[in-house]
Amino acid sequence: MKKQFNQPVKYVAYSHDHPDHASGGEVFADTAIFVAHTRAKEVIVAEKRPTAVPNITFSDNMTIELGGKKVELHYVGRNHSDNTLVAHFPAERVIFTVDWIPVQGLPFRDMNDTYFEEWIEGLKRVEQMDFDILAPGHGRLGKKDDVRAFRGYMEDLHRATLEAVRAGKSIEQAKADVTLEKYKDWGAYQAFRPLNIEFMYGHVKSHWRPSVPPAPAASGAPKGN
Ligand SMILES: [Zn+2]
Repeated sequence: MKKQFNQPVKYVAYSHDHPDHASGGEVFADTAIFVAHTRAKEVIVAEKRPTAVPNITFSDNMTIELGGKKVELHYVGRNHSDNTLVAHFPAERVIFTVDWIPVQGLPFRDMNDTYFEEWIEGLKRVEQMDFDILAPGHGRLGKKDDVRAFRGYMEDLHRATLEAVRAGKSIEQAKADVTLEKYKDWGAYQAFRPLNIEFMYGHVKSHWRPSVPPAPAASGAPKGN
């Protein structure tokens, strides 16, 4: 930062509480104000993350203006954590959405800390935002179409796994049969597809029961009114 800009760091915004994205903030503590979602601060404090505790928290939106530039921070619901932020740079038409909107890539491993239905709704909200460039943090840059494509993957993963559960398949059968072939060229397809299905199988199972025929009415039972 010093070499590139030679300016003190005035703000540090934590994208979400996960240690691989929020640790080490204390190196900027002499000059910076630390910003995070309210729940990110709760987790950082409760789990004693090795980082600076946020000074400013918010629950919906916050705008930071510095040196004539504007950064808008948005909370669009729970997705890959319950406190993930979208950073929008309106003048540059860029959004930063680390860990929850990969560009032509699958979600990480077994999708730990996932809120699936809200994740889909959050993707729809991002699709309504005004931007050209999507910076996913990991992997290459993308565009708005990549958000729609990723939502397509998530919806296909859900639909296909639900079908497997309804057909009475075991988790191993589901992992073999739900190939999601359309996405075979995406990043981490080989490594993460079976793990994504493991997550989704458990998720679907927790919301789904096989329907059972209604029990026959006992004879002599009083008629309903
Ligand atoms: Zn994360």
